[in-house]
Amino acid sequence: MTDAPIPGPIDPPARLLMGPGPISAYPSVLRAMSAPLVGQYDPFMTTTMVETQQLYRGVWATSNEATLLVDGTSRAGIEAALVSLIRPGDRVLVPIFGRFGHLLAEIAERAMAEVHTIETEWGQVFPPSVIEEAIVRVRPSLLALVHGDTSTTMMQPLDEIGAVCARHGVLFYTDATASLGGNEFETDAWGLDAATAGLQKCLGGPSGSAPITLSSRAVEILQSRKKIEAGIREPGDPSAPDAVRSNYFDLGMILDYWGPRRLNHHTEATSMLYGARECARVMLLEGRSAVIARHERAGRAMLEGLRALGLAVFGDVAHKMNNVVAVEIPDGVPGDVARAALLEDFGIEIGTSFGPLHGRVWRIGTMGYNARKDAVLTTLAALEAVLMRHGVAVPAGGGVEAATAVYAGAV
Ligand SMILES: *Cc1c(COP(=O)(O)O)cnc(C)c1O
Repeated sequence: MTDAPIPGPIDPPARLLMGPGPISAYPSVLRAMSAPLVGQYDPFMTTTMVETQQLYRGVWATSNEATLLVDGTSRAGIEAALVSLIRPGDRVLVPIFGRFGHLLAEIAERAMAEVHTIETEWGQVFPPSVIEEAIVRVRPSLLALVHGDTSTTMMQPLDEIGAVCARHGVLFYTDATASLGGNEFETDAWGLDAATAGLQKCLGGPSGSAPITLSSRAVEILQSRKKIEAGIREPGDPSAPDAVRSNYFDLGMILDYWGPRRLNHHTEATSMLYGARECARVMLLEGRSAVIARHERAGRAMLEGLRALGLAVFGDVAHKMNNVVAVEIPDGVPGDVARAALLEDFGIEIGTSFGPLHGRVWRIGTMGYNARKDAVLTTLAALEAVLMRHGVAVPAGGGVEAATAVYAGAV
């Protein structure tokens, strides 16, 4: 017991989240999440799970039966994929072009893989030939490759990598958390065996649910890791010689929960399920390619607006994700003070940076609900004001004008 007063009900300030994620959720996603709960085996729950699986097949562009949600943030999806697909001692290749590549390597190592990495400079991506050379040298059973890495804003082209993996009998996994929904993504056409994401980037929801899709080849591996008893493979027996070293993230068990057998595993996070379903519904209702085009346009408007303010864009812009841009902080501007002013005076959040980019660049996102003209123009106008306050010579109204020209179709 303490005498601390009971705080009031939650009442967050108005914010426009224009960082690298999380972003402001679609209002309908927040509404869906406040819908009443039903029991775990209520027919409505089962139907909602089946509908959500079908919606995410559309989002992922796949016919994979094994398309579902892992409860937890994006990292839960990554961890489920890696601990379930990697057997102790398996060789895993991780090409690293930013912070999240290091995360994949770390998780693979915890799954007791023999991890091999190749690295490229931040702001660059790998040519497919470099990945193929490393595959030939390492002979991994799994390639784990980030698609879009928000730490650098770069997006690794994946369209040729599936064929490379198929040639060498390698399983192909990607973390598409940052890219899915705002950039082209083709699970089946690109030959992916496993892909995971989260809601808090281009899908326009809160963090806390991780969509995942698995090819039949990946599902076969999960099946083979179950113990055979009386001719029946049983999930999740820890005495099986190569049992998955996690209960929560054992995808074989999670699939048996989502599949027709509905074997009890966890209690599906009902409100997150409603939210994830609405994220996918919003996207498919607007149209998958229309949503990607909206992200492309918002991203280009933001890029041109920032350039018109005289800011230098970081990295190989030809390989930048549509939905996030990194700009160098002008000399003499204290990056964190300027960000704090954007938040306090304008209610706008932009992102800081990690690792080699720390203190050098801001990251500005245009994702999901906020891949919108008014959000782009408001952010550029506010940034101009803050830069002027710090003595940067910016062309008055230049950022807004350049972005407006993109929206007018002039650029
Ligand atoms: C943002 C991001 C994540 C986030 O993971 P969380 O567990 O949801 O915080 C993971 N991977 C990539 C590539 C990201 O950009």
